[in-house]
Amino acid sequence: MTGSTGRPLASRKNPSTGGKGKEDPLQVFFLSSEVSPVAKTGGLADVSRALPLALAAEGVDVRIGTVAFRGVDALPGFSLRKTFAVQTAEGPHTFRLFEGTLGAGGVPVYALDPGGLFDRPGLYGEGGGEYPDNLLRFSLWNYGLLALPEILGFSPRILHANDWQAALSVPLLPHIQREDLTRRPRTVLSVHNMAYQGVYPLSGWRMTGLPSSYNHFDALEFHGQLSLLKGGIQFADFVTTVSPSYRDEVLSEPEGFGLSGALRHRGNRFVGLLNGIDEEEWNPGTDPHLPVKFTMESLEGKERLKSEMRAAWGLSGSGPLFGVVSRMASQKGLGILARVLLSERNRRKNLGEWVVLGSGDPELEALWRDVAARYPGRVHLKTGFDEKLSHRIMGACDFLFVPSVYEPCGLTQMYAMRYGTLPIVNPTGGLRDTIVPDRTGLWLSALTEEGILEGIVRARDLLSRQKKMREMRLLAMGVDSSWKGRAKDYISLYREALALPPWHLPRR
Ligand code: ADP
Repeated sequence: MTGSTGRPLASRKNPSTGGKGKEDPLQVFFLSSEVSPVAKTGGLADVSRALPLALAAEGVDVRIGTVAFRGVDALPGFSLRKTFAVQTAEGPHTFRLFEGTLGAGGVPVYALDPGGLFDRPGLYGEGGGEYPDNLLRFSLWNYGLLALPEILGFSPRILHANDWQAALSVPLLPHIQREDLTRRPRTVLSVHNMAYQGVYPLSGWRMTGLPSSYNHFDALEFHGQLSLLKGGIQFADFVTTVSPSYRDEVLSEPEGFGLSGALRHRGNRFVGLLNGIDEEEWNPGTDPHLPVKFTMESLEGKERLKSEMRAAWGLSGSGPLFGVVSRMASQKGLGILARVLLSERNRRKNLGEWVVLGSGDPELEALWRDVAARYPGRVHLKTGFDEKLSHRIMGACDFLFVPSVYEPCGLTQMYAMRYGTLPIVNPTGGLRDTIVPDRTGLWLSALTEEGILEGIVRARDLLSRQKKMREMRLLAMGVDSSWKGRAKDYISLYREALALPPWHLPRR
């Protein structure tokens, strides 16, 4: 067996028990600030639901630690389980623990509220800005998470932290759980996007609770500030990111966002494991959000869905229907796409019809409002977060445009393939790893206005070649992007982490 990186991983008969079959299941504590449906701003939430479910299906005893954002108590099956106090860097602090489960197997979800600090309209901020007390909020949350195993009586062998929000738990762990090394969990940090690092002024250092020996270039210090993500990268037993190509890209700048040196230092303890998708939630044959369902055997249903949705979206033409489902962020290349549509030079060209769903950067949202105003009846725009519409776009469109400047993995292109909607991508990071050009989608020749225009023209031509189009749709729908095999790569990695000596000893 080889991992997605091509690196050999230990082969196991029963991955969760190391092949012996009789041991207790491997216990993993999976820490993520976003878990669908508790909270979601992007792909992290989807992964933090689907990966634990896939691990549980492999026999891993996985529990999820997340944030009790506003409204958690209204989620079906979630309720307040207990209130407890923990000694933090800020002194004793009271937490409320909400508990619920995910999936048929009932994966436990522990949502922590450190005293109302997350009871706000946004997750990390509002109106494009961050909440000023994020360092405090997330430091306290990490303290609460690390206290949970003892409070609830479970003993994870692996602490799997995701992104900057949970990264502090990695260096903090040995300072909170002071058992001997053999019993302390091994740590894995997964980085879903190097651009988000949790960087704060050193004046907030005290909130982390770490000794000042960590305020150093080879620890959390980052250009005169403190970086939570860097702390996780420096000290986790293994660091992962979400596709093999992105793993290679972030070893250099500018893709490493200043941390390429720290990542290079991790050598083969930094690996790229490709994300998967939840193939039950994203299934055109059963999707409750689709008024017409379809499968590979009944593709004509997709055509019916397309004409129904076209009418509902006020689109009247008959050419290619392009979809976009994306955060509105500069990373996603939506500015250049909008400029192509707005350009005077392209005004008389047939650029197809568009349905665009996105939210985020107010300037990008405004740019797309200009596009929609320019093309009434040809561009349907919705700004905001809309789960149902995201499924309908995947179902109804001919093509999904993903012109990302960089893309750690990307999930939307895999959802699109499952719905026979061909992705048109800039081949970077996970987009390169998941789309086979001219078979399961199209690669843009360049992320320029000319490259995008050429992509639109190629898509239009492809749509007119019905046989080829159908062949590619079926190929795309047949791709196995499920978590099943991919979760096994994580289990092998956990086993490897447990078999190796720890990467670092706590500093005093
Ligand atoms: P990222 O994590 O960078 O945002 P991904 O492609 O990995 O990108 O994941 C994006 C996820 O968020 C997908 O599930 C996508 O469907 C969803 N999504 C993005 N924007 C919206 C939106 N405005 N409304 C509904 N879902 C959205």
